[in-house]
Amino acid sequence: MSLNRVTSAALLAILLAACGGDTPEAQANLDIDGTPSAVLPTIGSSGGALSNVEAKRLFGAKTHGSAQAPAPYGGYSKGCLAGGMQLAETGSTWQAMRLGRNRNWGHPEMLDYIDKLSQRAAQLPGWGGIYVGDISQPRGGPMLTGHRSHQIGLDADIWLLPPKSLALSRAQRESISSISLRRAAGAYVNESWTPQHHQLLKAAASDPRVARIFIFPGAKVQMCADETSDRSYLRKIRPWYGHHYHFHVRLTCPPGATDCTNQAPPPPGDGCAEAAQWQKNILNPPPPDPNAKPAKPRREILLADLPAQCKAVLDAN
Ligand SMILES: [Zn+2]
Repeated sequence: MSLNRVTSAALLAILLAACGGDTPEAQANLDIDGTPSAVLPTIGSSGGALSNVEAKRLFGAKTHGSAQAPAPYGGYSKGCLAGGMQLAETGSTWQAMRLGRNRNWGHPEMLDYIDKLSQRAAQLPGWGGIYVGDISQPRGGPMLTGHRSHQIGLDADIWLLPPKSLALSRAQRESISSISLRRAAGAYVNESWTPQHHQLLKAAASDPRVARIFIFPGAKVQMCADETSDRSYLRKIRPWYGHHYHFHVRLTCPPGATDCTNQAPPPPGDGCAEAAQWQKNILNPPPPDPNAKPAKPRREILLADLPAQCKAVLDAN
């Protein structure tokens, strides 16, 4: 094979890979779900009679963190959290919302991140701090309702509603709703979007511990248009479905967390062309690919499927 042919073959492979990476199915694995944690040994049959029980039933029943050193095990969408810490219900610059869900548990790095971000938010006009949505269950793991990720204490949802009060009662935290910032099914921001949202997302993405921030495509497009200085943080702001009432922060595995699975970093660059493509696809949906294979229905995660360490996390006091 001539060098020329090798080069063309390599180029074709790269082009095919790039196209594959653009399909929602491929991105679902690459992006919000993170890298599958198949490389770690799993519980398998060592879980005994519980091995074939849906993991969400076991982890969803835990009311407090495990008495262990903090450690995330596995990946964002298939893992668990040892030594989870509870975010204080109220801080000087935040409140945890929907306390009845008991999902204000996370890795200490996440709690520290939220504290620091809330202090930045408190400096923005009209923002006294932040309302914090779901982090993880007390021991992480799959949930009975809602998210597929948020399993290892390193994902958190931050409301896009500027807090009017940081003295909300428990009842108010159940009843108040966030606001949607999207228009035209997420292709654009609406009139509730403000420069403060831009600044908050910029601050959120600029912490070096952040792996990705997920927000609806129109918000990223707007930020790309409005950013006049450093654009490097835009790489971490990822367009995604939903995410117009809150944005989702994902931290990288903390130093020393050897059994925590990072996902591949976002592609190089600011990702603005990709966001523009998402916007185009919302406004003018491309015809369905006649050769697309139907998406395989997802199987429930069983206890056996989780990383081996999650058995001790479940059993610990
Ligand atoms: Zn989320």
